[in-house]
Amino acid sequence: MITTHPFDDDKLREECGLFGIYGHPDAAAHTALGLHALQHRGQEAAGIVTTDGVHFHSHHSMGQVGDNFASEAVINRLRGRLAIGHVRYSTTGETILRNVQPLYADFEFGGFAIGHNGNLTNALTLRKELVAKGCLFQSTTDTEIINHLMAMAHGDVVDRLTEALHEVEGAYSLVGVARDKIIGVRDPLGVRPLVLGRLEGAHIVTSETCALDIIGAQFLREVEPGELVVLDAAGIHSFHPFPKMRQRFCIFELIYFARPDSIVEGTAVYQARKRIGAELARESHCPADVVVPVPDSGVPAAIGYAAEAKVPFELGIIRNHYVGRTFIEPTDHIRHLGVRLKHNANISSLKGKRVVMVDDSIVRGTTSKKIVEMVRRAGATEVHMRISSPPTTHSCFYGIDTPERQKLLAYQYDVAGMAKFIGVDSLAFVSIDGLYRAMGLPGRDPRAPRFCDACFTGDYPTPLTDSAEGGAPTQLSLLETA
Ligand code: AMP
Repeated sequence: MITTHPFDDDKLREECGLFGIYGHPDAAAHTALGLHALQHRGQEAAGIVTTDGVHFHSHHSMGQVGDNFASEAVINRLRGRLAIGHVRYSTTGETILRNVQPLYADFEFGGFAIGHNGNLTNALTLRKELVAKGCLFQSTTDTEIINHLMAMAHGDVVDRLTEALHEVEGAYSLVGVARDKIIGVRDPLGVRPLVLGRLEGAHIVTSETCALDIIGAQFLREVEPGELVVLDAAGIHSFHPFPKMRQRFCIFELIYFARPDSIVEGTAVYQARKRIGAELARESHCPADVVVPVPDSGVPAAIGYAAEAKVPFELGIIRNHYVGRTFIEPTDHIRHLGVRLKHNANISSLKGKRVVMVDDSIVRGTTSKKIVEMVRRAGATEVHMRISSPPTTHSCFYGIDTPERQKLLAYQYDVAGMAKFIGVDSLAFVSIDGLYRAMGLPGRDPRAPRFCDACFTGDYPTPLTDSAEGGAPTQLSLLETA
């Protein structure tokens, strides 16, 4: 879900998590718990919309799920056996409540609310067309485009949603709630995850299996790329209304974004990360006394690396869990401060040691630079950085927060230059083929890559209608363009 705030033309991308449940007496409470398990997918705002079959009820708020949906009063007000919820994190600009999802609208067929994970890459073009046709937008999110396209389409809610989605380009996993059904959809490339579950006869559609685990629900299967599922009184119905395309699941979900205890694309995320770490060790190990993860994101890869390299795994950096993710800090200054607030060197496992540090990615290089300094100050004799993804050379236009290309360290420097910038004795990234090998494939087939790996290769799987490659995905001013 992308926000296109008319007064803020900086980069505007979002990361999101989705949850929907049909047929449970405690639908809202279960949705709040599901969203809590998905909090890593977005910490800035959350919303839940429920229906009792006649009326819709909603609560949207800024901040984290636990702070806003834990009260009985809020949950009791969200009546009904059908509920959907959304967590989001937008990277810049003031976030306004009217952008917080799920977005509700009244249609000829009745009410419908929708939550979106992913980014539409032709959102601005569509929005301009819709504004020219007289549509009045309530929010500045690309998700609302889907509402307007549905309003102009024909038939029932499923027909209209399908017709609307034929117009959009980009990545989307969606959950929607109408009076008598929950709908889940995954784009034809299957870029963002979406899974189905069951709890005591109720059916669930959500971003990750960890949201099923928290409520003790059973994992049924993944929603297939290009599949639309309807959850109603008769069970789960499956439709394939879109042209079949080759799947391109986001490989960064497996590297970093999904929770390690989730299963995505048939793979346990934790195990996949360990396998990448082992590949990394095979490709680029150097003599060292300890392998140290950058917590928490580097931990599974470091475990895999240490086991493969037969070097002791040590917690050489301790993370304070009571601060938010580094990326949440809006300015570079605060971001630097955030890194120091978040991590501390554990002298007892670093002093006098040759250290291999493992992290999942280098984006701007801020985290690595600070941590390397810290590890050296703690007495490490050598610091070697190993990264469980290839260099991030391109921005993501599909729902992972990356800055515009010019701010990516790997865009500015080659590997030697990056090593100098972060101050390490050596730096290595897993190769793109090594990454694919860790996913059980022989390597990356450039003619038919199995994953969306555009952030590492620049091979974007959809047209970038509104997003110049190399620029920010949405450097927009809707006031000028609309
Ligand atoms: P940087 O300091 O800009 O190089 O960021 C790299 C750190 O941020 C790594 O430790 C990653 O685990 C983490 N990271 C990478 N991508 C994201 C993202 N989209 N959102 C939040 N954190 C991220």
